[in-house]
Amino acid sequence: MFINGEWREMTDTFAVYNPATGEEIGRVGNGRSSQANEAIQAAHTALASWSQTTAYQRSEVLYRAYQLMLERKKALAELMTREQGKPLKASTFEVQYGADFLLWFAEETKRIYGETIPSARADQRFIVAHQPVGVVGAITPWNYPISMITRKVAPALAAGCTIVLKPAEATPLCAIAIFEILEEAGVPAGVANLVTALDPAPIGHAFCTNPLVKKITFTGSTAVGKKLAQDAAPQLKRMSLELGGHAPFIVFDDADPVHAAKGASLVKFLNTGQACISPNRIFVHRAIMEPFLKTFSQRVSRMVAGNGMNAEVAIGPLVNEAAIEKVDEQVRDAVALGATLHNGGIRLTEGALVDGYFYAPTLLSGVTPAMRIYREETFGPVAAIIPFDDEDDILALANDTHYGLAAYVYTQNLSKAVRTFEGLNFGIIGINDINPTSAAAPFGGMKESGLGREGAREGIMEYLETKLGGFVV
Ligand code: NAD
Repeated sequence: MFINGEWREMTDTFAVYNPATGEEIGRVGNGRSSQANEAIQAAHTALASWSQTTAYQRSEVLYRAYQLMLERKKALAELMTREQGKPLKASTFEVQYGADFLLWFAEETKRIYGETIPSARADQRFIVAHQPVGVVGAITPWNYPISMITRKVAPALAAGCTIVLKPAEATPLCAIAIFEILEEAGVPAGVANLVTALDPAPIGHAFCTNPLVKKITFTGSTAVGKKLAQDAAPQLKRMSLELGGHAPFIVFDDADPVHAAKGASLVKFLNTGQACISPNRIFVHRAIMEPFLKTFSQRVSRMVAGNGMNAEVAIGPLVNEAAIEKVDEQVRDAVALGATLHNGGIRLTEGALVDGYFYAPTLLSGVTPAMRIYREETFGPVAAIIPFDDEDDILALANDTHYGLAAYVYTQNLSKAVRTFEGLNFGIIGINDINPTSAAAPFGGMKESGLGREGAREGIMEYLETKLGGFVV
């Protein structure tokens, strides 16, 4: 744990495991609410001076952290693959993506512009300025264990806020590596604090109830996001929530089915399906279903599951036993209700896979609204294909979910692309694009997928208050 600029050795620790091999790869301090409150106090004390630094001073620190991340890219990526399981190439991309937020907000801090507003009264002036919200409590998930941290820490620090972060209990080692970088980059004591814990609930409760915390930023499941929002409601804390998703992927009949199947299979199996923007319902026009399924199935059958340190591996492990069970239950439920299983549908335990949490990349067609997979977030390597005939219905079908994070559309027809973009109730829409993400672009969801946006210009505003000055002159 890193509190008030010091690394704490704890006697109470918990183990961290490699999900591909089951081997213990480290132990970290098991924080309780007392450590969380101590870190909050340190962040509160540090706020007085950090909030008064110039944007140029904050920018320099963030830029140094960015450079250190790039220098350590290989080591960070290897650590991520060992701790989280994604293939090394994907980990390397994530380290770059994570570093991009440091660079982006090192620049955005210099652009916290205010404005003047003309008044109807000749003797009155309006001036609008922004100031940091204060101490931030941040909670991050295990699936993107580095980029989800920098996506919060970089804008918070850029805005002049101080922060206490609780990373996921499955991936605290990546968090420690990032905080070592922040320390080396010159982040002053107390400005960024790290509390690791096996039981997240008391830490979350401390964030929600300690009056020194002015804002909570959370990435994780919708269920936990709602709990935190309820817990923080009595103090009306500002909340940013990046929650679950159930992305539709729509392939119109004018799309190239081979190209679309290639895109769908790439984004579906990204991070073994453990991504909030992973397609959960792949709607394919019946007229091109056959070539689409053929290409998709061929690609799935070539995917190699295993330890992400091996170059040929495309499918890493799931996070734990519960994830395997959830995925398997969704597949069995779909097959029992009439879905066709083309590939996978089983846990993989052969040879070196025996001690890991591996599930075969799975392709189901003929999925219907009666099946659990049609409504529940899968968070695993299962592609669910749903045929459609009528274009007029597809927007209503795609929007029929309480989630609203990402959606994908394949079409060559420009007006259809525009109509679909406008009609989909999702925060991020890829049109012939399976990677509509960047530090420069706003990331976030509608409906029960969350509140607020991360990255982009919007990302820093989440950490700023707006203050109006009315002056009579
Ligand atoms: P999770 O909600 O179980 O855990 C996320 C974080 O919350 C972890 O740090 C965990 O320790 C903590 N947590 C869990 N229970 C808590 C409690 N009672 N109080 C305080 N903190 C608590 O989610 P997960 O399984 O780790 O992550 C997967 C979920 O995250 C999926 O639903 C996925 O869609 C979502 N996600 C969303 C985004 C996004 O940007 N929208 C990005 C990545 C993941």
